[in-house]
Amino acid sequence: MSPLPPTNRHLQPPESVHTAPDGTKKYLFALPGELAVETVYIPEKERHTLCISTQAGCRMGCRFCATGQMRLQAQLTTPEILQQITQVPEAQQLTHLVFMGMGEPFDNPAALFPALAELTNPRTFGFAPRRISVSTAGVLPGIQTYLRDFASPLSISLHSPFHEERATLMPIEKKWPIATIMETIRNTPRSKHRRIFCEYLLFRNRNHTPRHAEALAHLLQGIPARINLMRPHPIPGADFEPPDDQTILAFRDALNAHGLIATIRRSRGIEIDAACGMLATKP
Ligand code: SF4
Repeated sequence: MSPLPPTNRHLQPPESVHTAPDGTKKYLFALPGELAVETVYIPEKERHTLCISTQAGCRMGCRFCATGQMRLQAQLTTPEILQQITQVPEAQQLTHLVFMGMGEPFDNPAALFPALAELTNPRTFGFAPRRISVSTAGVLPGIQTYLRDFASPLSISLHSPFHEERATLMPIEKKWPIATIMETIRNTPRSKHRRIFCEYLLFRNRNHTPRHAEALAHLLQGIPARINLMRPHPIPGADFEPPDDQTILAFRDALNAHGLIATIRRSRGIEIDAACGMLATKP
């Protein structure tokens, strides 16, 4: 990895780091105006992943997400996105980058897309496209640009195949329904590097019935997607609980029986509020 090109915008080294027992680290970076943003390093055997933020806060308002509760406080610039990578001590070890930190990446396209171009530029960062993944709640214009101009994997926060139910969890569903998003993905020519991941939080007694498994199979027809099943994490003011382990296994098996590839993901960094949906720049 080569150094960044010169720029007059600099993210200072992290102000603090919290380390979880599993080795996950959460870095806090200061931004102008007493704002801050968090970046999470996740080691796993040979894989060293950095979870990058694109905004301080987020205006998507997903009900299960602490970042959404902050509302949007600031858009990061391209250098501020890239310097999360260069400013962590693990910079030279990183093998994978995921845009799953604070913010909705496609709600900050002016900074995100130049950053992605830089990350895959062989003369600067030189990451292979398949090692970078962008996660979205479902911002259609950003998805269209990404599918057209970039070859990296795409992650969709799915959480329910049903319009009404998903809208209660994710307000963005009212603007860009998940059926429209999936139709767009289905109809866009795919590069060989492109993989589609669907993140699916399991909420107890809510979104894991046989009806959900069947509707997911219908929604994802013709898309070679992988479904990552995850447990929701505790955040203030929200009472989402995961189902018990047996129920999670049964739902995974139901999805697999429908021909879908579903796996159960282990939570990382819960002890330091670094797991999915927990980032909220707490000291
Ligand atoms: S889950 Fe992602 S898109 Fe939704 S509020 Fe949180 S940061 Fe924003």
